[in-house]
Amino acid sequence: MNTTEPNDDVPSRLAATLKAIRRAERSAGRTEGDVTLVAVSKTFAAEDIEPALQAGQRAFGENRVQEAKAKWPALRERYPDVELHLIGPLQSNKADEAVALFDVIHTVDRAKIAQALAKEMRDQGKTPRLFVQVNTGEEPQKAGVPPREVDAFLASCRNDHGLAIEGLMCIPPVDETPAPHFALLEKLARRNGLKGLSMGMSSDFAEAIAFGATHVRVGSAIFGARPKP
Ligand SMILES: *Cc1c(COP(=O)(O)O)cnc(C)c1O
Repeated sequence: MNTTEPNDDVPSRLAATLKAIRRAERSAGRTEGDVTLVAVSKTFAAEDIEPALQAGQRAFGENRVQEAKAKWPALRERYPDVELHLIGPLQSNKADEAVALFDVIHTVDRAKIAQALAKEMRDQGKTPRLFVQVNTGEEPQKAGVPPREVDAFLASCRNDHGLAIEGLMCIPPVDETPAPHFALLEKLARRNGLKGLSMGMSSDFAEAIAFGATHVRVGSAIFGARPKP
């Protein structure tokens, strides 16, 4: 857990981020409130997250199932309307815990995960909202469906696994300008009739909104720098 950064200013950073989101919505001609801010609280302890909850933030993103399981049940008892988003890679043997804990899963990216989620959703009677992660940069080390396989994978989620997919998610390569990746994700979503677009992080969320993002995932701009992995 990160204890090196002072987080006294989480409420003001959060307010500034929300203001920038509303400004980006306006300049893109989008409806105000169209974009959901997912506050990425990975690596931060409950006491760092609490000021954001007190300031009214309700959607939070975590990238590890185990870490989320350790932090969120207690916070949720006090803030029952929290909406928890899984934004990190999911292993099929954690599908049961992911379905139990998360309201939205952004990282569906292969048949084995789709199948495991479908089974858990049936068994638990829960229906988390689902996004398919796309590897827009076709980076070998990165999770996500290659762009040319997206249409077939979405059809398989629907037809073979009975899953309703809300949208697409991407993490552009760190060393490239993100705009072409946002544009590609938007194109893939539109041609498959999907409304959701999870794209944009601290450094580029305003640009992502210009390209149609419905969910931006913002961590360090709100909570401060994370320790390097
Ligand atoms: C950590 C993370 C973020 C947030 O990154 P920041 O640059 O801190 O805003 C967004 N999306 C994913 C998938 C992440 O893992």
